[in-house]
Amino acid sequence: MDIKYIPTICPYCGVGCGMNLVVKDKKVVGVEPWKRHPVNEGKLCPKGNFCYEIIHREDRLTTPLIKENGEFREATWDEAYDLIASKLSEYDPNEIGFFCCARSPNENIYVNQKFARIAVGTHNIDHCARLCHGPTVAGLAASFGSGAMTNSYDSFEEADLIFSIGSNSLEAHPLVGRRLMRAKMKGAYFIVADPRYTPTAKQADQYVPFKTGTDVALMNAMMNVIISEGLEDKEFIEKRTKNYEKLKKVVSKYTPEMAEEITQVPADVIRDIARKYAKADKAAIVYSLGITEHSHGVDNVIQTANLAMLTGNIGRLGTGVNPLRGQNNVQGTCDMGALPTDYPGYQKVADQEVMEDITCTWGCSDLGCTPGLKIPEMIDAAAKGDLKVLYITGEDPVISDPDTNLVEKALNNLDFFVVQDIFMTDTAEFADVVLPAACWAEQEGTFTNGERRVQLIRKAVDAPGEAKYDWEIFCDLAKRMGADPEMFTYESAQDIFEEIRSVTPQYAGMNRERLERPEGLHWPCPSEDHPGTPMMHVEKFSHPDGLGIFMPLEEQGPMETPDEEYPLILTTTRILFHYHAAMTRRSATLEREVPTGYVEINTEDAAELGITNKEKVKVRSRRGEIEIEARVTDDILKGIVNIPMHFRECSANVLTNAAAIDPKSGMPEYKACAVAISKMEGSN
Ligand code: SF4
Repeated sequence: MDIKYIPTICPYCGVGCGMNLVVKDKKVVGVEPWKRHPVNEGKLCPKGNFCYEIIHREDRLTTPLIKENGEFREATWDEAYDLIASKLSEYDPNEIGFFCCARSPNENIYVNQKFARIAVGTHNIDHCARLCHGPTVAGLAASFGSGAMTNSYDSFEEADLIFSIGSNSLEAHPLVGRRLMRAKMKGAYFIVADPRYTPTAKQADQYVPFKTGTDVALMNAMMNVIISEGLEDKEFIEKRTKNYEKLKKVVSKYTPEMAEEITQVPADVIRDIARKYAKADKAAIVYSLGITEHSHGVDNVIQTANLAMLTGNIGRLGTGVNPLRGQNNVQGTCDMGALPTDYPGYQKVADQEVMEDITCTWGCSDLGCTPGLKIPEMIDAAAKGDLKVLYITGEDPVISDPDTNLVEKALNNLDFFVVQDIFMTDTAEFADVVLPAACWAEQEGTFTNGERRVQLIRKAVDAPGEAKYDWEIFCDLAKRMGADPEMFTYESAQDIFEEIRSVTPQYAGMNRERLERPEGLHWPCPSEDHPGTPMMHVEKFSHPDGLGIFMPLEEQGPMETPDEEYPLILTTTRILFHYHAAMTRRSATLEREVPTGYVEINTEDAAELGITNKEKVKVRSRRGEIEIEARVTDDILKGIVNIPMHFRECSANVLTNAAAIDPKSGMPEYKACAVAISKMEGSN
């Protein structure tokens, strides 16, 4: 029997697990462990185990589609290209925007942003990091000089204490969750701070429930205790940081008693966890979207950095500030410059010298130094009629962006809308042209996981029908729009990676031969003799003067707070069996496990409202309303309700608030908006 095992990387979350796709008769028929893979050692979560189920589905997009009189018809690539090229040429570049695909390999992303900047002439390019870890990129860059995870996953196993805040890793990043459990078995003390008693919180040595959106006050009070009890690392502060006195002044106000009022965490508990964190020799902070998805997400991230620097918990194994990234290649998509403010390698669009260097390397003319629009700004501009054309690759904002009614209004308002994807998503239904793309199992390239590890993906099977690689489509279109063919001619993904290395300093030392090793390479890797950097900031931070910067912060709280009409706070989450919707909801096994959504509500709140478990209820916010099944539970604080974000038929994002935005990163406040719950009319 002709069976092949093709080593590649999971297409779902930023953990970046290795797996073998099992290929028989030119079809992927299963997934086998990659036992010696350094990230996951042969283990996979359900999403990884069943990722192959979507590859050969009959509803894959196989030909370009053009909408006429409200209906899609099949079209040739030439027809689709001519239409798109003429529309993109018709409008002012500032009226055109791009959403990039963080599921796609680096090579596709790189060519996508190059296409937007050179062929179209706009910096209006962004991707879903804006909606998950944009605050990480901004916050850690401000504190440390680099906006990425400081340590690698295996470093957790060296920790004496792990402080997890706003992260349900056992569901959202299960193979990191496994590492944390192993660290715990080796003796690490595991503290979980979360408004929900999640599966991860249930494994904690100490669970600290706190009111959603009060992270700044909680961490200020922890730092207050550390400083007032003399537990800070004076030598580290003196040699490696600046601005300490300013931090000290602000946190001095945040006594544990004051923070108790804000966070609902008893003052003694705050004292206890502060002492434990500060006294541990090696303490690691782990966080995820519970920290970032707030209107003060950057502040929350900076607080984790302040806490780590205050106690010298940075630059050593078992320490660090460790954001767990969302999509499989969201780290790479940031690295590749699919950002309105940054070229590849976080080189700033606003910097004239950077622009001159980039134009010189690419061989193009002036690209301008005005940053483009972020995703929420593009949605707003489209809703107002200022953005006329949108080109979305592999994103599904109708499901994933806040305030679905606003998103739909924006999409309906566009003059011209292109979606490039592997399935007809809820968003693609709004498009004028839909282009069929190859999925991860059908192409070569690289993904960069959340610990900055660049790993090869390998082609297992051909793409269906006429589907193409994203980079091929953008190169074809660029040439049709009159761009210099030399700038958009590549033989292969490897050819593109060679160019990526020349433009992205962090990737300069990586080549195909080095990446063939199962462990890949961690950036920064500035030269071919550099071993890569699993742990950052060992001797100095990435700022020009090598110092970390303390940034004092005041508690802000969520922008929309409960009131008489909307008395509950809604938080939204992901669950173990789904990753967004377009792919996992098409996996028969995953969909069977969790076929629809639910709202978790505290037992006391439910009793006050007369709601019983599994009863269908109405949830309303100022943006809209949904009908959904209630799950009555003690695993969530009174006053807070939770809805998983994956399900179109009861979509949490109908309720969320696109107007509450972090001014420092553009992050919408997914984790806190005011809602009301009521029984359905006619129910008892
Ligand atoms: Fe895939 Fe993430 Fe699960 Fe690993 S933990 S198998 S990368 S979804």
